Amino acid sequence: MEIGNWVTPRSFGCWFKYTPRVGRLLVYNITMNKKNVIDTHHVKMVTVYASSSSALKPVYYDAARRLGEVLAGAGKSIMYGAGGHGLMGAVADGALSRNGEVYGVVPSFLQNLELTHQSLTGLKIVEDMHTRKQLMLEGSDAVVTLPGGSGTYEEMFEALTMKRLGQWVGPVILVNTNGFYDGLLEFMNHSIAERFMGSSHLKMWSVVDEPEDVLDAISNSHDWDSDALQFANVTVANA
Ligand code: AMP
Repeated sequence: MEIGNWVTPRSFGCWFKYTPRVGRLLVYNITMNKKNVIDTHHVKMVTVYASSSSALKPVYYDAARRLGEVLAGAGKSIMYGAGGHGLMGAVADGALSRNGEVYGVVPSFLQNLELTHQSLTGLKIVEDMHTRKQLMLEGSDAVVTLPGGSGTYEEMFEALTMKRLGQWVGPVILVNTNGFYDGLLEFMNHSIAERFMGSSHLKMWSVVDEPEDVLDAISNSHDWDSDALQFANVTVANA
């Protein structure tokens, strides 16, 4: 799929080409057969899914900002939904405050410049939400999910679904600020107990309470590869 070039948010006249690293672009293409070797030194681009809400308790913005600082401090680049407000804006601000690289992907209909972060390293304007989600996932070595609403859930569950099918194999880390995801995690365990997912699918995600624990969680993520397709369907034998 031709997706176009990145532009900087301030000057759309300034373009640069985004070249995905060979061997990393696995999404929607079951050709990957190597083990996913997880090593934070090799995780360069981290996609962050996070709330767009500007009406949250301060504890959520504080954690989001710290996540941006932690990732940038470790030399990771961030890809996210380009928002200038909510937890999205806080992550970007945190990373930019540590001279991190932050790339945003936004569909044109959402590209109200008041909402789009104005200081990003790069901005890509795409046609629709589907293209955005695909681009954000295929460009990432790992996914981190902060608290959020329907948009955040959709993005994270697409990552988990692609991982279950072996089409994208990176770590998925949930930051459970203030216990926000306790109910969701209980439901995911319920899904496994009821055999809608297999127990091996529990290895697809990790949970941390604090953003400072995200890098260790990435390092300690279970290996995953395209063989996951073999056990994507739950059977009596593999439940
Ligand atoms: P939500 O958790 O429902 O607030 O949705 C946030 C997620 O959906 C982000 O990760 C974005 O990719 C996307 N999104 C939703 N609303 C916006 C917005 N106003 N600006 C940019 N991205 C948004």
